[in-house]
Amino acid sequence: MHHILIVEDSIFFGKLLLKKFSEESPFHPVWVKTKAEALIKIQEAEQPFLAAILDFNLPDAPAGEIIDPVVDHGIPSIIYTGSVSEDIRKLVWTKKVVDYVIKNDLFSIEYIIGVLTRLEKNSGTKILVVEDSKFFRKVVSDLLIIHRYQVLNASNGVEALEVLGENPDIKLVLTDFNMPEMDGFALTQKIREQYKKDQLAIIGISSNENELLAANFIKSGANDFIIKQSFLTEEFYCRITQAIELLEHIHALREASIKDFLTKLYNRRYFFDAGNKMHALAKRQNHSMVCAMMDIDHFKSVNDTYGHDVGDLVLKQVSGILNNRMRESDIVARLGGEEFCVLGTNMDPKEAFRIFEDLRQQIENTVVDCMDGENKISVTISIGITTDNQDSIDSMTKVADGLLYQAKEGGRNRVIVDQTN
Ligand code: GH3
Ligand code: MG
Ligand code: MG
Ligand code: MG
Repeated sequence: MHHILIVEDSIFFGKLLLKKFSEESPFHPVWVKTKAEALIKIQEAEQPFLAAILDFNLPDAPAGEIIDPVVDHGIPSIIYTGSVSEDIRKLVWTKKVVDYVIKNDLFSIEYIIGVLTRLEKNSGTKILVVEDSKFFRKVVSDLLIIHRYQVLNASNGVEALEVLGENPDIKLVLTDFNMPEMDGFALTQKIREQYKKDQLAIIGISSNENELLAANFIKSGANDFIIKQSFLTEEFYCRITQAIELLEHIHALREASIKDFLTKLYNRRYFFDAGNKMHALAKRQNHSMVCAMMDIDHFKSVNDTYGHDVGDLVLKQVSGILNNRMRESDIVARLGGEEFCVLGTNMDPKEAFRIFEDLRQQIENTVVDCMDGENKISVTISIGITTDNQDSIDSMTKVADGLLYQAKEGGRNRVIVDQTN
C-alpha cells in the first residue's frame, strides 16, 4: 500500500483528509502538522512516500517554504491551499509541484485522490519526447517525470521510430515540428501507419511560426497541439492527462465489450472471434488445436440451496482457477451460465487429458467459503475435449460439447477426450 505524507496544521482539514483517505482511497495517510515534523517523517520513512500533500501556510513555514525541501527529496507534491492569488499560483508552479488544490472546494479531496491514483498509474505509462532542442527536451521530460511517467527521449523522427520499435507499449508521443532527419508531420504520419488513435496518442508541440501548424498536425494524425510560446505548466499537465485518460477509457470500453463482467473471462463473442483467427492460423502453420468444453455439475442445486450470491462466488472461484492454470496464449471463455471453454494451440494431444484431469481435481478439492459464517462447499466439473482441429471452431465446440454430454451421462466429475489421436 502506498503511503502519502500529509502536512497540515489545521485540525479540521487534517482530520477530514484522514477520514476521506481511509474511506475512499487505497492510500495510507501519514499526517504531521509542521515542516519540521514532515522532514523527520521523510528521513524515517521505511518506504518512500508516493506523494505529499502540503499546506501552503504552516506555523514554521508560512509561505510555501515546505515545498522545496519535500520536492528535493523527490516526493511528488500537491499543494493544498486556502486561497490562491496570482502570485501564489506563479510561485507554486516554479517549484516543480504536481498540482495545487484549493481547500474549500467541495470536491477538493476527491480531486486529490484522483491525482494520486493517476500518479500511481503513471509509473507504468511510457511517454516518448521527440525534440531536437536539448534544453526544451529536458524541460518537457522533467515535467513528465514529476508526474512519475516513464520518459523516453529522441532528438528527431528517425530516432523516435527506433525507440518506438523497441518500446511498442509507448502510450503517448510528444513531438516537436522542426527537426533534422524527419520532422514532426512525417513522424506523425509514419506512426499512424502502425498505431491507431485509440492505441497511441500524439501531441504536437511547436512554436507558432505558422498559423496552420496546429491544424496540419492534427490532420496528419495528432490528437492535440501545444504552442511553445504560450506554454503553461498547468495546461500542459491537463492536456497530457486528458490524452492518457482517453486511451484508458477506450481500453476499458474494449475490455468491457470482450469480457464477462462477473468472472472477467472472455465472453462468447470474443471467444468465437479470436477462436476463428486462432483456427485459421493453426491451419496455415499446421498446428494442432485443443478445445475443452466444461460445465459445473449440479450447479442449479448450489443456487437453490445457498442462493444466487453463493452461486456467483463459485463461478468466480472456478473461473480464477481456470484462468491461472491455462497459458497466456490460450483463450479461456465463459460461454454462458456455468459453461466454460478453453482453446489452445500446440498442446500435445496426449498432454491435454493430463492437464484437464489436473484441473478437474483441483476444482474438486477447492473449498468455497459461502461467506455466511457457516457453510463451505465444493463443486465438480465435467469436461469434454477434442484434440482434432476439425474444419472450424464451430465444429470443434460441437464435438467437445458431445463429449461433455458423455461425461455428464457417465456420472459427471470426469474428463473425456476424443479417440482421434
Ligand atoms: P448439470 O450437472 O447437468 O450441468 O446440472 P446443472 O444444475 O449444473 O445445470 P442446469 O443447466 O440445469 O443449471 C444451470 C444453472 O446455472 C441454472 C442457472 O440458474 C444457473 N446460472 C446461470 N448463470 C448464472 C449466474 O451468472 N450466476 C448464478 N448464481 N447462477 C447462474
Ligand atoms: Mg495552514
Ligand atoms: Mg451444469
Ligand atoms: Mg449448463
